[in-house]
Amino acid sequence: MKKMCESCGMPLKDDVKGTKSDGSPSDKYCKYCFANDVFLHPDAAPEDMMQHSVEGMSEKGWPKFLAKLMVRNTPKLPRWQQGDSTKPSEE
Ligand SMILES: [Zn+2]
Repeated sequence: MKKMCESCGMPLKDDVKGTKSDGSPSDKYCKYCFANDVFLHPDAAPEDMMQHSVEGMSEKGWPKFLAKLMVRNTPKLPRWQQGDSTKPSEE
């Protein structure tokens, strides 16, 4: 099964992986959500992530209805299921 970012749901290819404090790539979060062991948008809600993703995708030429379909499961991702969405879970 393909890995995806546990914060925004984008496919976690090697070139979009976030970084941990020691500089190694994260297996959980993408670089748009996570860098140097912290979330880039710690106060974000799932709705913010969805909005952000839809805008990013539509800039790349995706129709908005399709982008919205792609991100509809964002609130079910592990980051938003844990108690404190401001802190990354341990790897
Ligand atoms: Zn992400």
